[in-house]
Amino acid sequence: MVTNLLYLILGILLLTTIYVVVRTILFQRAQGGVEPIEGVPVNADEVAAHLATAVRCQTAPLDDTGTPDPEAFRQLHQMLAETYPLVHQQLQREVINGYSLLYTWHGRQPELEPVMLMAHQDVVSADPEGWTHPPFAGEIADGFIWGRGTLDIKNQLISIMEAAETLLRQGYRPERTILFGLGHDEETGGTHGAKIMGERLKERGVWLAGIVDEGGGISDGLAAGVRGAVALIGVSEKGYLTVEFTVRGQPGHSSTPPPQTAIGILARALSRLESHPMPTRMRRLRPLYHGIGRAAPFYLQLAFANIWLFGIFLRRWLVRNPEMNASMRTTTALTIIRGGVEDNTVPPEASAIANFRLLPGDTIADVLWHAKKVINDDRVHITPVEGKFNEALPISPHKGPAYASLSMVIRQVFDNPPVAPFVMLGGTDCQHFVPVCDHIYRFTSLVMDESFRGLEHGIDERIPIAGMARMVTFYAQLMQVWGTKEMV
Ligand SMILES: [Zn+2]
Repeated sequence: MVTNLLYLILGILLLTTIYVVVRTILFQRAQGGVEPIEGVPVNADEVAAHLATAVRCQTAPLDDTGTPDPEAFRQLHQMLAETYPLVHQQLQREVINGYSLLYTWHGRQPELEPVMLMAHQDVVSADPEGWTHPPFAGEIADGFIWGRGTLDIKNQLISIMEAAETLLRQGYRPERTILFGLGHDEETGGTHGAKIMGERLKERGVWLAGIVDEGGGISDGLAAGVRGAVALIGVSEKGYLTVEFTVRGQPGHSSTPPPQTAIGILARALSRLESHPMPTRMRRLRPLYHGIGRAAPFYLQLAFANIWLFGIFLRRWLVRNPEMNASMRTTTALTIIRGGVEDNTVPPEASAIANFRLLPGDTIADVLWHAKKVINDDRVHITPVEGKFNEALPISPHKGPAYASLSMVIRQVFDNPPVAPFVMLGGTDCQHFVPVCDHIYRFTSLVMDESFRGLEHGIDERIPIAGMARMVTFYAQLMQVWGTKEMV
């Protein structure tokens, strides 16, 4: 009897092990290597000089609302026209809302849905204090182009232009129409640039087969537990929601306080909010680890292939990493608190602000409902802050020709890194094209290591000349692949 039971247990264990291992083997799909391409000829020094000139056009907004500096944009537009004459002769160029640029490279088969490559012309401002080379001097030194915008994202803008000019020089003409969408106010939300461009395309009845905008890159340490470079393509963006919590209480003198003050009630609510975050959705990370494949250690492949069995351990491990935690749940951040000004007066009101970043799948209504439920106190008024919310973006597919060919080009140009989809934690201009495209990919074609940390929007922003040259190779290849009917 006991022996039979033992056999039964052993049998179940054996079957479970086989099931787990088979699932792992099926999960860790190897991405077969592709042949590297030779690519178009790129004169790295010339490209560097062009980027340096673009940096000197100081396209930082004049204020917090993103007011553009007309002179800086005039200079940049003139620089583009002079440096890329074939682009300006052979492509249609439209200025949208004063500063944004929309180029149309008409394909030989106008019935095909166009694709669009994006970058933004604006940069964030920079205080010259602490820079090795002044942020808007556009200096080239020690193998780098230095200055604001060299990583975010004039590098991409110039690469697109260089690639197109080079292909035009070779007599190339795409089958599929290629658009270049270059907004002018991405850093302040893109509502005057990219948004208007998106609306313009929609009015014209344009539907895009694919978009590539700035986003993920090629780097080590982009996902927990993974060693070695992986390329990440952003397939969605988290949503945004700022909520105000207000409590009106009994004002009075602190010598005779009410049992609960507005501050006390609010404090309890905030504490509950923080200790009851929105649930994790670990399966959202599955495509990421699936794409990374064998670059992830075996125990992670095993765990992600068998979330049903190891999910609980995996979750515990992943939530400790802030990036991974933010990649698998809607996050809650308490950011502002107000209430009371005198040490001996009970204030009539206390309020606080929380900022939520919504994982695709969670809606603004879900978060508000969740907050109401966990606070469970009608004295706390919950109000979304006007103009400070947007839903998470739809997830673009990580299958199909647009994604597959983008992934192939990355592997051709960058020595076969594993390519995987992920959800961007921040927002970009391409969010404004959701009404005209459902294959939106966010990828910056640059290999980045630890030394790049903090440079974007920071001091000493710079790009290696060799990295910049490779961006041109990448765009020329992408244009030739996405420019075909089959996108292969
Ligand atoms: Zn940017």
